[in-house]
Amino acid sequence: MSVTTLKLNSGHQMPIIGLGTYSANPSKTKTAVEYAVDVGYRHFDTAFLYQNEQEIGLAIAAKIEKKIVKRENLFITNKLWSTFRDPKDVRPAILKTLKNLKLNYLDLYLVHFPVAFVNNGNLFPEGENGDVLYADIDYIDTWKEMEKLVDEGLVKSIGVSNFNQYQINRILKECKVVPANNQIELHPYLPQDELVEFCKKNGIAVTAYSPFGGPTRPWATDTEPHLLEDPNVIKVGERHGRTPAQVLIRFHTQRGIAVIPKSFTPSRIKSNFQVFDFDLSKEDMELIRSSDIICRYYGLSQWSNTKYFPFRENYAE
Ligand code: NDP
Repeated sequence: MSVTTLKLNSGHQMPIIGLGTYSANPSKTKTAVEYAVDVGYRHFDTAFLYQNEQEIGLAIAAKIEKKIVKRENLFITNKLWSTFRDPKDVRPAILKTLKNLKLNYLDLYLVHFPVAFVNNGNLFPEGENGDVLYADIDYIDTWKEMEKLVDEGLVKSIGVSNFNQYQINRILKECKVVPANNQIELHPYLPQDELVEFCKKNGIAVTAYSPFGGPTRPWATDTEPHLLEDPNVIKVGERHGRTPAQVLIRFHTQRGIAVIPKSFTPSRIKSNFQVFDFDLSKEDMELIRSSDIICRYYGLSQWSNTKYFPFRENYAE
């Protein structure tokens, strides 16, 4: 029997598959989310950064109003963007997001990225030289404000995204609430075994973002490796009569890792959810992982010289 939800350390259940909603073409968001509800998705991964919260809010409200789904059966994740990391900006940020989404609580609110930016009204505030304006705000101070949101009932569970082991350890040592979730880039070309093990050992659920390597990222190149064309993934798919995308999703859910594939194409939204009726064998899992390609598609190297940049080798603050 396939696992369909994960129990978070907060006691709440998170559906193991969610719809990713980051898109360079957000105009399709509303119809995609409505269709996803129809075919069974209950978990939606959203963010202020994606600039489509209002469309998602309209889609969810329409489905609730038509009694297709109840609010309590949905699991809505959102992320605090880096410009709202000053403690005084955290509560206003979630209130704005809730208003956009037409909700009165979130299921999961994540600190989107450990690096903070200056809050001047732009998503990527720029200085005179065109560089992003960083703010020296410790994520520990932000986290203490996140904890208050739970107490106030604005969110059921809180977590982090793109945090490394060192950074989570600091939260564990210096704060009250253990993160319920770490949302990270995860796929066969970036397995991050050590970080996954560390999270599991500390009761922190892991969510895999970009399970297909985000092939339509604005900065994707023709020369980068394509997960959906990986020969081992294709071979395993052929063994089971499944698409490469279904194999890449099942690769996570079978290990108790949540996964949030994005698609705004109805046929793919549907097929990406049809992964609970087959099992990958140990040999399949090993073959999928056997590539020697290592690729972090969301390397964000333009921010690598900042104090809290999480993807540095031998990270220390
Ligand atoms: P994914 O790896 O999920 O890939 C999405 C792309 O794959 C889209 O172009 C989609 O096209 C295409 N696709 C979807 N299904 C199939 C299929 N069955 N066959 C072929 N192609 C397919 O990319 P994302 O980077 O969007 O990651 C998923 C989600 O993770 C995001 O949407 C977001 O919610 C989250 N995320 C979080 C980050 C963070 O920092 N926390 C960073 C990046 C992502 P189409 O829509 O046309 O079907």
